[in-house]
Amino acid sequence: MTDLKHHSPNSPILLTASLHVDEARKAIANLVSDLIQEAGKGNLTGDIELVDLDKAIDRILAEDLLSPIDVPAADNSAMDGFAFDGNCLGNCEDIVTLRIVGTAYAGKPFIGSIGAGECLKIMTGALMPHGCDTVIPQEFTVPADESAVSFKQNQVKREENRRLRGEDLQIGKAAIAAGRLLRPSDLGLAASLGVATLKVHRRLKVAILSSGDELRPLGQALDAGSIYDSNRYSLSGLLNRLNLEIIDCGIVRDDPASLKAAFIDAASKADVLISSGGVSVGEADFTKQIMQELGDVGFWKIAMRPGRPMAFGILRSVQPSGRKTLFFGLPGNPVAVMVTFYQFVRSALLQLNGASQTELPMTQAIAEAPIRKKPGRTEFQRAILGRGVDGKPTVKLTGSQGAGILRSMSEANCFVILPHDQGNVAAGDWVDVALFDGLL
Ligand code: AMP
Ligand code: MG
Repeated sequence: MTDLKHHSPNSPILLTASLHVDEARKAIANLVSDLIQEAGKGNLTGDIELVDLDKAIDRILAEDLLSPIDVPAADNSAMDGFAFDGNCLGNCEDIVTLRIVGTAYAGKPFIGSIGAGECLKIMTGALMPHGCDTVIPQEFTVPADESAVSFKQNQVKREENRRLRGEDLQIGKAAIAAGRLLRPSDLGLAASLGVATLKVHRRLKVAILSSGDELRPLGQALDAGSIYDSNRYSLSGLLNRLNLEIIDCGIVRDDPASLKAAFIDAASKADVLISSGGVSVGEADFTKQIMQELGDVGFWKIAMRPGRPMAFGILRSVQPSGRKTLFFGLPGNPVAVMVTFYQFVRSALLQLNGASQTELPMTQAIAEAPIRKKPGRTEFQRAILGRGVDGKPTVKLTGSQGAGILRSMSEANCFVILPHDQGNVAAGDWVDVALFDGLL
């Protein structure tokens, strides 16, 4: 059984006092790295797949990609201009005139060599001819006659405007490090090396389920007191953004037998199980009992808003492989689901899948209006990042910030993150901002 002693979520301390957001993040990261270490292959599952480059976007590289070639493969010109031997240059306004003996194009090198007083018309990317180490850009030259150019000596220094063989990357060196979440530039880089396939970690299988007697699936009429299950849709959207495999386990009713059966079934199919609902104070005891039978799960009260209750831990050996399933029991409120996913689940999933960079960049902006905030909890207010008349970044909250008001999230493009000890914010104060466009 994985040892949760450093961060035992069941400990009485954590049940009576609120857990700081940073402590919760640390506890999750610790358990995740224990699990990865157990697997021993840099991610939770240890499974590696070979995929074609055009299928590799948003996958995580499992091994360093070593360059099979030097990049560039040979010295070449960085500009359109004239290549010559830079030996003739001095630091003065004197004019040099060179006779043009030919032209080199990218992909069509000049055969022959260039002597003193001579130059070669050269295009960007064309191979540097023998005897030349410098390129004077076209725009600094004037024609001297039909077959010669002139330029001032001090307009170029020796060895300028050429790229050296192996300057970007040397043969055998890591072009892309293991753990990279592959972006378009990485695919381009791999292609530039002639690499057609990449070794990536298997996509994590993530099961999702919603719990609550009040929840109805789409397509069914709403009876008194019932609501549509929206969390599974925001969760599957979030997981799709991370390019993970989703196992939809539907809606589960609030009764112990159904919940237990659903958890066992979901955990047997998935590396990670994410549920929403059923962890708030009124319902936690109920879910807690089931979790005690299935694994080692703690029920946390986190000092944050929205998203206070959350369960986290492992479900033991229910998979045929004998592997443990990591469990996140998110709160039921639709905004709280997205905020806790953003704060706790996203980086854990990336880490479990072998990614080395799991944190999102933060920025700062000026609050357009005052924001009320109580010290003693971290708040995630939904906002729109824009630009003020003076060009400085500004943020404006998207209306009512209740934990159930999904529209505040839908209209936003960022969170304003107000740290634990922060009090009220005045208009004009700088605040921390985490952009989530394209992510959440
Ligand atoms: P709970 O954490 O189960 O107490 O739920 C908190 C609130 O979130 C309640 O108002 C629930 O009706 C609502 N809720 C729970 N699950 C969902 C869901 N899947 N979709 C939409 N609302 C939900
Ligand atoms: Mg509920």
